[in-house]
Amino acid sequence: MNFKEKLQFDSEHLWHPYAALKNTPARFLAKTAHGTTIETADGLKLIDAVSSWWCVAHGHNAPEIVQAIQQQSEKMCHVMFGGFTHEPAIELGERLVRFLPQGLNKIFYADSGSIAVECAAKMAVQYQYAKGHPEKCKLVALKGGYHGDTAGAMALSDPDGMHVLFRGIMPHHFFAERPNCRADEPWNDSDFKSMEKMVEEHLGEIAAVICEPVFQGGNGMWLYNAVYLKKLRELCDRCGILLILDEIASGFYRTGPRFAMEHAQILPDILCIGKALTGGSMTMAACVASEEVADTITNSRISAFMHGPTYMANPLACAAGIASLSLFESRDYGASVKRIESRLKQNLLPMKSLENAADVRVLGAIGVLELKAKPSNEDILKVIRETGVWLRPFCNYVYTMPPLITTDAEIDRICEAIRLVGECEPAPIVSGEDDFHE
Ligand code: PMP
Repeated sequence: MNFKEKLQFDSEHLWHPYAALKNTPARFLAKTAHGTTIETADGLKLIDAVSSWWCVAHGHNAPEIVQAIQQQSEKMCHVMFGGFTHEPAIELGERLVRFLPQGLNKIFYADSGSIAVECAAKMAVQYQYAKGHPEKCKLVALKGGYHGDTAGAMALSDPDGMHVLFRGIMPHHFFAERPNCRADEPWNDSDFKSMEKMVEEHLGEIAAVICEPVFQGGNGMWLYNAVYLKKLRELCDRCGILLILDEIASGFYRTGPRFAMEHAQILPDILCIGKALTGGSMTMAACVASEEVADTITNSRISAFMHGPTYMANPLACAAGIASLSLFESRDYGASVKRIESRLKQNLLPMKSLENAADVRVLGAIGVLELKAKPSNEDILKVIRETGVWLRPFCNYVYTMPPLITTDAEIDRICEAIRLVGECEPAPIVSGEDDFHE
């Protein structure tokens, strides 16, 4: 197949994320990816301004991770985790226990972020069951949140967001208003009222609250005040319900500190991590419980946690995770993210004056230009080709979450591409067209 035929086959036979099978904007045929750059079959070199959906923290194909996968593949690519354990799983576990905040140390390996969220919700329900509260089987989540695309995770994501069509197959949960108080504004107590009311009204049914700390990603690229989380921790403690933090997007230095929960100096009862865990090399996530949660489940009549994916603790993914954690430990990403943050602020904040700009926000290695209206996909693709910067705007959000190794010069190029998208003519939404959704 020549280049054209390959793309033709792709558009005839391969579903892509959040896209129609046909009639999608032209796709790029990725050939290689190293460091911050993806190279396409037709010779384009694109800076990956979105870390390939936020997972390629150390840059593409970090040699340390590639080598770890290669070495592990010579010994054992996979073995079932039921009845067996193995060294990569144990070593990754040891490293995670060291890397995670103290007290979060009972690890369930999952094969994707969505599955980690499913596991967290099930764990919370099983915890309440073990405590003698089988009726506490609902969660409270936040409007504007995103937790994944499987049924249980969709049911915890924004109820009016991208999954509306599937309401019929989703379990019902409760939703508090999105925290409106911005990360860069003083805290306003009224912002917590909706959550307080929701928990108090439905307490008898609630097992846990789940949220993305500080940074709501896939359903709005929103950055909110960390005081909300302090209040939430107090509320959960007062009411005897669990707090689940989904740090699948915000973890591993993305918002500045190692985990976004550090902005509020709180700990969850259950933590979800994923994406950057393997540095964007293999699919793997984890759901990590506190000792109290794990012990309560373990010491109850139904002591087993009833979840067990085929590829649980896949040794290749564990090896990648070990190498990735070594990089997180040995590099000063705290400093890199500070540098990226100040460069993003310098470049992006002046874009508030663009005619089509609705808002600009920056935290850590996250920069968002929110537009009043989105330009056409053709115009966005033109900017990508002309600037050599891979952007993936969705809805009205043009954003960057670059690899943590991205240089200042590359950040400048990324921001210039964002500006050019911000200056394109807004276009009407074409129904059925790939909305470049997250
Ligand atoms: N939670 C959050 C906060 C996410 O950002 C995502 C992915 N964007 C998920 C869960 C789902 O992860 P995955 O795509 O690996 O299933």
